[in-house]
Amino acid sequence: MPEMIADNLKFITERIAKCCERVGRPPVSVKLVAVTKEASIRQMNEAMASGASSFGENRVQDALVKYGTIGGKVEWHLIGHLQTNKVKDAVRIFSLIHSVDSLKLAQAIDKEAAKLGKRQSILIQINISGEESKFGISPGETIDFLKEASLYPDISIEGLMTIVPEVRDPEVVRPYFRALRELLDKTSPIIKNLSNGTRYSTLSMGMTNDFEIAIEEGSNMVRIGRAIFER
Ligand SMILES: *Cc1c(COP(=O)(O)O)cnc(C)c1O
Repeated sequence: MPEMIADNLKFITERIAKCCERVGRPPVSVKLVAVTKEASIRQMNEAMASGASSFGENRVQDALVKYGTIGGKVEWHLIGHLQTNKVKDAVRIFSLIHSVDSLKLAQAIDKEAAKLGKRQSILIQINISGEESKFGISPGETIDFLKEASLYPDISIEGLMTIVPEVRDPEVVRPYFRALRELLDKTSPIIKNLSNGTRYSTLSMGMTNDFEIAIEEGSNMVRIGRAIFER
């Protein structure tokens, strides 16, 4: 089924566009990150041929291997947990690191970015549902965290990311998406005052099961894997 990925991408793009239309936003306001953690190089090439331009990977190690073949023709996004010992490689290949969840990590990224002469774009991962199993800082700590993290000159804090619980009915997680958007709105004046030139506006939320709800609640970056690469 060689057309599968092309068809899937087309279908997802249409669903994103329809959803945007419903809420009165232009379709270009939502960026699609194709999550390739389970995808082969062949599938990734197919996705690129069908217009995918950003790939999301969970693990630095896997991304390095794929980057070795595909290179910089696409944007690479790190969406999984990052350990400080992998920061050097991560800063080398990723356009956006979605999963910054500690000051230690922010500092390590800043340091490696400075060495490479790069300003590394990052998102702060928020544990919006408060589940113990989830990475991310708690909403209540966000303001203090941003105040500290914005002192690092070689990271650019571009917004917030969250992973919500997996549930059968995505309506259940709508309040979490709304809460993340409200947190971005609330913290936006603070971060804009602290670090000039930062576009603190990205809300990375929504996956295969719930991306339409996430967009309705203000998501402008969706991370979709299964709906693209599985049949
Ligand atoms: C796997 C993954 C996704 C994509 O999930 P799908 O259900 O396959 O769309 C998105 N975000 C993160 C952080 C993931 O690990």
